[in-house]
Amino acid sequence: MNVIASEGMKKRLTILGSTGSIGRQALDVVKSHPEKFVVEVLTANRNASLLIKQAIEFQPNAVVITEKQHYQQLKDALSAFPVKVFAGSEAMGQVVQMDTVDIVLSALVGFSGLLPTLEAIKAGKTIALANKETLVVAGDLVNDMAAKHGAPIIPVDSEHSAIFQCLMGEDPASIDKIFLTASGGPFRTYDAHQLRHVTHEQALNHPNWQMGNKITIDSASLMNKGLEVIEAKWLFGLHPSQIKVIIHPQSIIHSMVQFCDGSIKAQMGLPDMRTPIQYALNWPDRLPSSNAFLNFSEHPSLTFEKPTPHLFRNLQLAYEALEKGGNMCCTLNAANEIAVAAFLEGKCGFLQMSEVIEHCMNHSSFISKPTLDDYIQTDREARQLASSYLTL
Ligand code: NDP
Ligand code: MG
Repeated sequence: MNVIASEGMKKRLTILGSTGSIGRQALDVVKSHPEKFVVEVLTANRNASLLIKQAIEFQPNAVVITEKQHYQQLKDALSAFPVKVFAGSEAMGQVVQMDTVDIVLSALVGFSGLLPTLEAIKAGKTIALANKETLVVAGDLVNDMAAKHGAPIIPVDSEHSAIFQCLMGEDPASIDKIFLTASGGPFRTYDAHQLRHVTHEQALNHPNWQMGNKITIDSASLMNKGLEVIEAKWLFGLHPSQIKVIIHPQSIIHSMVQFCDGSIKAQMGLPDMRTPIQYALNWPDRLPSSNAFLNFSEHPSLTFEKPTPHLFRNLQLAYEALEKGGNMCCTLNAANEIAVAAFLEGKCGFLQMSEVIEHCMNHSSFISKPTLDDYIQTDREARQLASSYLTL
């Protein structure tokens, strides 16, 4: 395992996806704790102008832009600074292995997070994992590699951070079940007719969280919660029947664990991703925060509802994929990525997204013990199936 800088030294961070919602909030955390963190590497896909601004402000050792056509713009803009500039997705896989990196925050979106996260794991880095799709696609392989290379995986996703915090000092064998809370998204009270006519503008308007487009659509369709059920299985070693989803519209309780004696522990706070990001980056120690704290008198009512799987079919599909195992969750993820992109472009209806996923799950090649190459091939096949179903 990579030895994190000893007491008093700063933790050296690589932020994969620093221009995204999680990446930008992670940089806020760094800014509020300059005594604790220093930025070693920042990466973006195509947002060169923001990456340049971040590089000038945080002076990392290196930056990577995945889309190579932006390389020269980055290189020119940073020529006066001692910042190395790289381009291409292979470069992401290389910078995460640098000796000068302690923690890799994996905050890419979708399947693109898998390979660089695996490279960081192979190098024994501590992984602060926001990119849930890494575990959804290849949870078995990721866990095996993390164990082999001694790379701790610390969840950033608020629900999983909550469970992780509730489990501190507890014997994992004493877990009876966990409750993943879900806000229910903007369409919680809609009927099937209303859901059919939902637009992407409406779906992008999440009531409680400001996030990237893909996860915002996933939240509206409850696929995010489905992906989180799968993520929880791999993070906490649970059977799917031990993972319950409960709608909690206020997003104050971030998730709960029920133990074998019936006691329930919950982790609570205002919905602010900087809290779980900071916890993951400085784990196992807590740091003070100047963000607003929860005031119970402003939140007198915490309510809970059952999800409606007949309307939000994605949640059920995720449980089915998890039960089936093998490469099925990889298929589900790839089909969902295509469906969400099509929905955002107005080429697929809101309820049709579940049809696309179900079609791919029924027609893709099933592999019970996939290798990494099988996962890459499955991802490709499911994307093709989904695209031809939608005739994109
Ligand atoms: P965003 O879309 O806001 O950001 C994604 C980041 O990844 C950007 O920096 C983007 O670069 C980069 N990126 C996108 N595609 C690629 C690619 N193919 N290759 C390399 N880099 C790429 O996403 P979020 O920050 O919202 O989400 C990131 C992850 O965290 C997701 O897995 C999400 O599920 C998870 N998560 C997010 C939460 C949130 O509050 N946002 C909460 C919990 C989990 P560029 O800007 O150049 O396009
Ligand atoms: Mg979450």
